[in-house]
Amino acid sequence: GEPEIELSKCIGCVKCVKACPGKALEIFYTPEELEILAALAAQGNLPDEEVDEGEKQRRELLASYRGVWVFIEQTEGEAARVSWELLGKGAELAENLGVELCAVVLGHQVEHLCAEAFSYGATKAYLLDQPVFRYYRTDPYLDALCYLIDRYKPEVVLMGATGLGRDLAGAVATRVKTGLTADCTGLDIDDKRNLMQTRPAFGGNIMATIMCDKFRPQMSTVRPHVMPMPEKTEGRSGEIIRKSFAINEADIFTKVLEVISDKKGKDHVDIAGAEFIVSGGRGMMAKENFAMLKELADELGGVVGASRSAVDAGWMPQERQVGQTGKTVRPKIYIACGISGAIQHLVGMQDSDMVIAINRDREAPIFEVASYGIVGDLFQVVPAITERLRELKQ
Ligand code: FAD
Repeated sequence: GEPEIELSKCIGCVKCVKACPGKALEIFYTPEELEILAALAAQGNLPDEEVDEGEKQRRELLASYRGVWVFIEQTEGEAARVSWELLGKGAELAENLGVELCAVVLGHQVEHLCAEAFSYGATKAYLLDQPVFRYYRTDPYLDALCYLIDRYKPEVVLMGATGLGRDLAGAVATRVKTGLTADCTGLDIDDKRNLMQTRPAFGGNIMATIMCDKFRPQMSTVRPHVMPMPEKTEGRSGEIIRKSFAINEADIFTKVLEVISDKKGKDHVDIAGAEFIVSGGRGMMAKENFAMLKELADELGGVVGASRSAVDAGWMPQERQVGQTGKTVRPKIYIACGISGAIQHLVGMQDSDMVIAINRDREAPIFEVASYGIVGDLFQVVPAITERLRELKQ
């Protein structure tokens, strides 16, 4: 039947308002009640919400977790750039929470990464430097990270949403029984010290803010290039906590026999790291027409990207795709040619410093995120821009 509110028992704790999934409840106060509340607030004496014993214990447990951690991903002693990007974001969160920003470094002969982490803002580094951690393998990394988490109890753990990070983060969250939000595009702290983890949901049609308010640590992965790179200050120091973790090579089932690099020689283009990107969509009409974009990109010292439609049509390889199922890019200038601006494309490029859109349909949604919009035929506009750049260079 209809839910009833027992007015004699209601203490106005507004718990029901917060808990109602349909946001169907609202509490109205009479002018007299408002006066009393204002008086109580002035004395700093507002009635607390009702908290039972279990809830109290849970809150104490959560409060025993402190600090923001960033897992420093490394291959053969070289850190993944995303780890430094996360230190930049992590510093903001740590400051907001009034806690330390810590780097977690696992590997073999990787102590120099602690110093690098300090130069990007960490004040402490947990270091496990043992031959067994030389190559990434899920089991030993999982055991080691869970050991550190159990022992030092961080409230936030951030990792890059790379192949390695996705693998490790999921395994760790499962083992320590906490939540994990993958591919966050925004991170912030709410008034109760909870991490607000924002990411696209339902095919990128909405942005959802996800909280993990009942468990610790709160874990998120973030894709490369989503967070800006922090400034590097050489010579900043911090505290290194050296640990060793008892683990036998013989007990690990996976052996690394050979490492084959995916850096594919001179044809390999990293659009995620490019400063200038000229992207083409279905409006390019044919594979050959991408040569026109290459010419413009060459003039700018940039690279050619693509929408998913262009990739699906076979005009560009998948590694050039920008968007939700492609790469997230943050160039200085992003030029979108014949791209309509579907939400799944926008989430991958809307944080570019400048977006220039060329489209013959003035209603195209790409214009909503464009700094400059050119309504016209790209087959005229693109060569004209290239031409003008060449003239300027002479
Ligand atoms: P269209 O939407 O067909 O737009 C072509 C545009 O070209 C039009 O606006 C047209 O006006 C313009 N045009 C045509 N001729 C000319 C001309 N001569 N001069 C100027 N303008 C011209 N898409 C991505 O890009 N990246 C992703 O990662 C991605 N992931 C997805 C994930 C999911 C789960 C789903 C459902 C979709 C995803 N998509 C992704 C697809 C996305 O929804 C769109 O279908 C796609 O981005 C459209 O590509 P487009 O803009 O090139 O093509």
